[in-house]
Amino acid sequence: MGNRSQEEIPRTLRLHGDYWSVTDTEEVCLSGFQCTACGAGYLPAITTCSKCRCTRFRPLELSSEGCLYTYTVVRGSGGVWPDVYTIGYVDYPEEGVRVCGHIGETDAGRLRIGMKMKVERAVLYRDRDGNDVECFRFQPSESGR
Ligand SMILES: [Zn+2]
Repeated sequence: MGNRSQEEIPRTLRLHGDYWSVTDTEEVCLSGFQCTACGAGYLPAITTCSKCRCTRFRPLELSSEGCLYTYTVVRGSGGVWPDVYTIGYVDYPEEGVRVCGHIGETDAGRLRIGMKMKVERAVLYRDRDGNDVECFRFQPSESGR
């Protein structure tokens, strides 16, 4: 084994890891689920399709870009969270999925409803044990001004 003890090394934990993966070229892909009966898309997963009540789903890889549906800049929430962060919903019209997640931009002047959003990997916070907790995060892929 190596000479580094696992206890001494802060780990990086993956949040919601079922829904995102990173390619060899560091591109982040979101994947949800699609109803096998009516084609409705979901992320996160649900047990029963809200459109047709079917309970069977197949994996659904989302497009590399979505568009910003809405957002809010959160301040002073406390706990493990940063002083300022942005959370929002991004639509993937082709797949019919609306995804909730963090947004890397905290300047509301640089965000515009409907703007194109890409996905990246980011550390969202450090937990109480000193581990970085990473997840997918949205980032504008065009200028908001
Ligand atoms: Zn359905």
